[in-house]
Amino acid sequence: DTKQESLSFQTEVKQLLHLMIHSLYSNKEIFLRELVSNASDACDKLRFQALKDNALMADDADLRIRISVDKENNTISIEDNGVGMSRAEVVQNLGTIARSGTAEFLQNLSGDERKDSQLIGQFGVGFYSSFIVAKAVDVYTRKAGLDASEGVHWHSAGEGEFTIGNVELPERGTRIVMHLKADELEFVDNWRLRSLVKKYSDHISVPVQMLQENHPADADADAELEGDEPKVEAAAVAPSWDNVNSAKALWTRPRSDIKDEEYQELYHHISHDFGDARSWSHNKVEGKLDYTSLLYIPKKAPFDMWNRERVRGLKLFVNRVFIMDDVEQFLPLYLRFVKGIVDSNDLPLNVSREILQNDATIETIKASLGKRVLDMLSKLAKKKPEEYQEFWDEFGQVLKEGPAEDMANKETIAKLLRFSSSQSGDEAQTVALSDYVARMAEGQAKIYYVCADNHQTAKNSPHLEVFRKKGIEVLLLTDRIDEWLMGYLQDFDGTEFADVARGGLDLGDIESPEEKESQVKANDEHKDLLARIKGLFEAEVQDVRMTHRLVESPACIVVGDNDMGAQMRRIMESAGQ
Ligand code: ADP
Ligand code: MG
Repeated sequence: DTKQESLSFQTEVKQLLHLMIHSLYSNKEIFLRELVSNASDACDKLRFQALKDNALMADDADLRIRISVDKENNTISIEDNGVGMSRAEVVQNLGTIARSGTAEFLQNLSGDERKDSQLIGQFGVGFYSSFIVAKAVDVYTRKAGLDASEGVHWHSAGEGEFTIGNVELPERGTRIVMHLKADELEFVDNWRLRSLVKKYSDHISVPVQMLQENHPADADADAELEGDEPKVEAAAVAPSWDNVNSAKALWTRPRSDIKDEEYQELYHHISHDFGDARSWSHNKVEGKLDYTSLLYIPKKAPFDMWNRERVRGLKLFVNRVFIMDDVEQFLPLYLRFVKGIVDSNDLPLNVSREILQNDATIETIKASLGKRVLDMLSKLAKKKPEEYQEFWDEFGQVLKEGPAEDMANKETIAKLLRFSSSQSGDEAQTVALSDYVARMAEGQAKIYYVCADNHQTAKNSPHLEVFRKKGIEVLLLTDRIDEWLMGYLQDFDGTEFADVARGGLDLGDIESPEEKESQVKANDEHKDLLARIKGLFEAEVQDVRMTHRLVESPACIVVGDNDMGAQMRRIMESAGQ
């Protein structure tokens, strides 16, 4: 190596490495999936860059990934002829974690292996997972377009630091050599690796190749017993590689041919999520527009779902060629938890993010993808209510942004909302508006709700007294976004919403004419008292009235019909308005 230097991993990497090795141990075989996934990304990136600059392919245009073992040295190599990395890129990509929110994520780890492995899974394990089974890793890489002399050799034992130096590499791409730990030698086995590739990476559209089974380089047990030198024999015969995976873009295959596990593995690859998807929707659209979409709803929310800078969006392909990641334009913001791919036959291969921003085709695709997701959720809610509830617990707060953003689908979204209510008993948001409407009392014309900071306050609100007395259900809204949401939901299926803490509460036919009359009378009778109280609080209140709202409490404060609610006011205040 020339210009050799020793560098320290970023602190976060050290922490992650340590935690990963311990908490992902029971899933250790996923290292292969991660490395093949990276190799496949590297091939996709090169294919894309070569659209503009074909010279990058040089004389090596058949992109592939090759896996081999060396039984003598107990190593596994994963090699691709993809885009490769420059020295600076290696330092950046294999020495740091660039994601914002990483420090918070690490703080959330508890030391409980099971919980932590879940969290790490959501975070994405990636390249560093190689250290679960390797005591040391070598990376040899050369960026496409650079000189053979600009090859880079990275080496680390996964402990605090790595070394990096320049080496001559005649071939473009990346080779990763894993030196297995003494008790992980089970992986130095072609059969084992083949079955792992089949299991985890069959959907990869780049060929994943291994040496043919009966090839002498694949030193079998007999040869070893007889003391043969596998290496010598291998040199005598040109190695012959065969494809282990089906190497066809999964989404181009007919749905009926694709197994659930295959869908899940593609999900792992594109989402970098270690856990499974809850459901997916795979569709081919032909006609005026021609595209295929495959959309996934994750099971778990990512740890940084509320981080504004978080990358989101779908992977875009044009005619099977990978174009770019994280295309935000295909889905509304309130469906930002959805992962997936769009493969378009209409967009030009040189499409850019700028073009995507104001393109009518994209708008049309966006509208129909949004519908598909809502459709998928509606079906889930209907057919698997328990699973839908789990979805809601993870992503409900995001979905609540929907009615404001997506007027066209407001009604569909309203059906998907779940709330806590005075009837449901606890904080869990389990009541659908259709459940509420079905339970409405005789004479009840509105859907009543109360907004508060937390469940306890909502439940004990004096505004609920009359409803409790009359046995009427009230939705208890305690998420920050709720009051804002209600501003966009005027009615559900024709039944209006009413905030019980607002203005002159009209209980409609729930109140008998006598009750109504006695309220009017009371206000009249106590005119003077009301005027005096109003005088005392002149600066604070607009009006003081007698009410039938209360049963036990002597008084309560209500908000004017058109004024901002208390929750909303606090949000505006905290936003500095
Ligand atoms: P992720 O794949 O989620 O970005 P990884 O930890 O798996 O995270 O990889 C980190 C980065 O290292 C990748 O984003 C990529 O830039 C680079 N990288 C990893 N493997 C390869 C490879 N085989 N060829 C080129 N770049 C790679
Ligand atoms: Mg990766």
